[in-house]
Amino acid sequence: MKTLIVGGGLSGLALAHALEAQGADYLVVEARSRFGGRILTHHDAGGYFDMGPAWFWPGQPRIAAMIARLNLQKFDQFADGVLTFENEHGQVQRGQGLSSMEGSWRLAGGLGALTDALANGLPEGRKRRNAVVTRLEHLEGHCIATLSNTKTIRADRVVLALPPRVSAQIEFLPALPVGAIQTMQGVATWMAGQAKAVAVYDRPFWRDDGLSGDAMSRKGPMVEIHDASPATGGPYALFGFIGVPPNGRADEHILRQHLLAQLVRL
Ligand SMILES: Cc1cc2nc3c(=O)[nH]c(=O)nc-3n(C[C@H](O)[C@H](O)[C@H](O)COP(=O)(O)OP(=O)(O)OC[C@H]3O[C@@H](n4cnc5c(N)ncnc54)[C@H](O)[C@@H]3O)c2cc1C
Repeated sequence: MKTLIVGGGLSGLALAHALEAQGADYLVVEARSRFGGRILTHHDAGGYFDMGPAWFWPGQPRIAAMIARLNLQKFDQFADGVLTFENEHGQVQRGQGLSSMEGSWRLAGGLGALTDALANGLPEGRKRRNAVVTRLEHLEGHCIATLSNTKTIRADRVVLALPPRVSAQIEFLPALPVGAIQTMQGVATWMAGQAKAVAVYDRPFWRDDGLSGDAMSRKGPMVEIHDASPATGGPYALFGFIGVPPNGRADEHILRQHLLAQLVRL
């Protein structure tokens, strides 16, 4: 095979999609049981809620063109109304500016609709899930990828559609220079430490009160909150970035209590 793509997130799927359009020989392998990577849309009660990325922006012509090509629909992030601010003592003030995400775009169906459309457009024989590449050996004119189940894949070239830090976990033969591995390990993965909480409601009561759904908090656990409702109709939602490091949010029961208390304060 010509091209092995390691990683079935948006990058790997977009490349696979382009190679498919060219009639090229390729295979995309994904470690998890689902495609999408950091993109994950949760479906609940007829609504769709992005647990990973939600936004793209004007000035990003390639993703806009891809969305148009796939006949998907973008819509504006809800931003009408004023922002709410909570200080470190939990005191809440209204009217502290306008929505910080005004002008951002979201995707009808969630960003998962994009990765689903890309993955579903690939023939079965060109995509593989539950396939973790553990080792890459560069031989004369070709590469051998070894999977965690010890199966191997031969390819003329390999594309790592992975964060550099995750790529550095693969065993390379011959070994990459120590400096290269250290550099890869030192590249932070954008948003890797972030988690989102989504609160789903029958009614967008904040909109009725002239609030955009945006809130900034110095108390937390959510540090930044936005309207996360679908393009039209309900159920409606607010989402917040949880400003607590992963080990501090391990107890979901306690976290949930703090999240609810914060929503009540706001
Ligand atoms: C909470 C959150 C919110 C975000 N919000 C935004 C936003 O609003 N707008 C925005 O533009 N960006 C946002 N981002 C960033 C965005 O999600 C990423 O930039 C983008 O999804 C990266 O896609 P990718 O395909 O490059 O990598 P990934 O999505 O990380 O895909 C890599 C894939 O490789 C797989 N993999 C890893 N190791 C192996 C292996 N050894 N073998 C096989 N497969 C492997 C992984 O399982 C994964 O599916 C957000 C991220 C998070 C976490």
